[in-house]
Amino acid sequence: MIDNNSELDRAIDCVRKACHVARAVQNDLERVREITKDDRSPVTVADFAIQAIISMALGDANIVGEEHAGELRKGDHAVVKDAVVQAVRSCHPDATENEVLDAIDRCNHDGTADRYWALDPIDGTKGFLRGQQYAIALGLIENGQVVMGVMGCPNLSTDFSSPMDVPDPLGTIYAAVLGQGSWEISIDNKADPKQIHATITSENSGLRICESVEKAHSKRTDTDLIVQEFGGPAVSVRLDSQCKYAVVARGQADAYLRMPTSKTYVEKIWDHAAGSIIATEAGAIVTDLTGKELDFNRGTRLEYNRGVVCAAPHVHDRIIKAIGTLKIDTAV
Ligand code: AMP
Ligand code: MG
Repeated sequence: MIDNNSELDRAIDCVRKACHVARAVQNDLERVREITKDDRSPVTVADFAIQAIISMALGDANIVGEEHAGELRKGDHAVVKDAVVQAVRSCHPDATENEVLDAIDRCNHDGTADRYWALDPIDGTKGFLRGQQYAIALGLIENGQVVMGVMGCPNLSTDFSSPMDVPDPLGTIYAAVLGQGSWEISIDNKADPKQIHATITSENSGLRICESVEKAHSKRTDTDLIVQEFGGPAVSVRLDSQCKYAVVARGQADAYLRMPTSKTYVEKIWDHAAGSIIATEAGAIVTDLTGKELDFNRGTRLEYNRGVVCAAPHVHDRIIKAIGTLKIDTAV
């Protein structure tokens, strides 16, 4: 297992708590929708509550979080704010409203320090609302390199034969530390951590791909072209969030492809920090479409990268070559 590391233990502990809170909100979707009269409010409640819980757990560390409490501070969002405070109190019973709002707003670092956390409290919001996959993603970046990642996947089964489009009753957590491998950890703490490895079934059996459910997030026609280059029967699985990195990291897919759909969209660090180290520590290679490493040295966005190719080593090289052969547009 990973060497004694109190910072990792703290990160796992708060992601584990966040998994329980996300589950509780997801089980209560209809009631929250009902009282707020807004379809997206359940994910808003989970997003804010988890950002607050993780922010409180990490003390005064620098955090780049996706959410800002500005909206919650406005009077017309009182119902959502109350639901957020109530959700946070399941972990911190004495938290005041101001403490919760301040904890959310403290995650406003600009990603320029030597050391900071990148947090996506609910990655894959659409999956969360559909009752499918989503992730609580927390990555630690030091001098432009991701050195630790913890990712809660409350709906992802450890059993490869389970369908991925329905929630698993147990879920799982993945954790990685630079140079110390990637590990699968149970949310209920009942099973021993298990090391995971990005492996391929056979070099000649086609490509097992995973990609976004949302067409707007990855260009499917480009993925199809790459899959055809490999020949053989392609097996594709579509799921939301950084769970895709974990699916490659544990050897269930050969590659996660994120093919840009627009010239202007720039990937955010919180959508890739945790997932990418979990994949690389399992032996996968993670680059952009041109084969360049993801550059976490540019603040909150991956300014110098375009798209993502996360794949087992031998396959990765072939995918980058295929992107060249197929003349897929890699211009930033
Ligand atoms: P996924 O669940 O893999 O489809 O990715 C979800 C993430 O996609 C969200 O957290 C957004 O930050 C991000 N996103 C939003 N618009 C785009 C886009 N046009 N291309 C790629 N990613 C996007
Ligand atoms: Mg996200």
